[in-house]
Amino acid sequence: MARDFLEIIEVSPRDGIQNEKTILSTDQKLELISRAARAGIGRAEVTSFVNPKKVPQMADADAVAAGLPAGLRSIGLTLNARGFDRALAAGLDEANFVVVASETFNRRNQGVGTFDSVAGFGAVRSGAPEQISVGVTIGASFGCPFEGEMPLARLMQVVEAVMAHDPFELALADTIGVATPSDIHERVTAVREAFPHVPLRLHLHNTRNTGIANAWAGIEAGIRRFDASLGGTGGCPFAPRATGNIATEDLVYMLDRSGIETGIDLDAAIAAAEWLEAQLGHTVPGQVMKAGGFPAPQAA
Ligand code: ZN
Repeated sequence: MARDFLEIIEVSPRDGIQNEKTILSTDQKLELISRAARAGIGRAEVTSFVNPKKVPQMADADAVAAGLPAGLRSIGLTLNARGFDRALAAGLDEANFVVVASETFNRRNQGVGTFDSVAGFGAVRSGAPEQISVGVTIGASFGCPFEGEMPLARLMQVVEAVMAHDPFELALADTIGVATPSDIHERVTAVREAFPHVPLRLHLHNTRNTGIANAWAGIEAGIRRFDASLGGTGGCPFAPRATGNIATEDLVYMLDRSGIETGIDLDAAIAAAEWLEAQLGHTVPGQVMKAGGFPAPQAA
């Protein structure tokens, strides 16, 4: 019997560094992406096509897209048609639209209301050429920094509006790291019951130390696609006090020891996280990179 497989989508080149004060060079970003790919990452969110005045760290999106390693499935984050056109022109495999479940956050993040963003996605989706897959992440699916609780009914309204335009994949994001395992179970189950055929992905932040527990709750609820970031780096420029994503190598450790295959080499992922930490010049939140895997590799 084949082992259970779970796909980790590496988001350090986008979410992981977008809020960092140290602006990484294009070469450093490409080195990060190559190290992730060599560790076994097959799919990564490599950049975002957004206003460089608002997110200076992503100003070199086109140059990053032009230097990607062969064989990596690349995703560019977009907020609107303009960003989508850039992702398409850059030759990326996927464009990932972000729509925020809460009205206030969506307006702060992208200057229009939630359902205007959904309509923007719909217009792009209907005209998108076959060579690019168009997916959607719903931000603040579990809570909003401005409005507080995210009612399940509101989330499902947004999910239904998005699904009317047939994304190839749907991601639920805990943008500010407020979800608990019971929230994950509730919302994943609700979306899967309403839309059993869309591949569902989770984007989790470890802001309140529930990230890895939430990942496990997602696995138990049937999710096999997770965003994660080397070293547990990450944060949103538009979400106050948002902190890191779940760490790729921490997730790999848990899955390895649980018999779930990822195709990612733990030691190579740890080494890549250590390299990223050195580039950023400060300690990053990942824990397995500090403790090492288990059992420890035998000396040669
Ligand atoms: Zn995020």
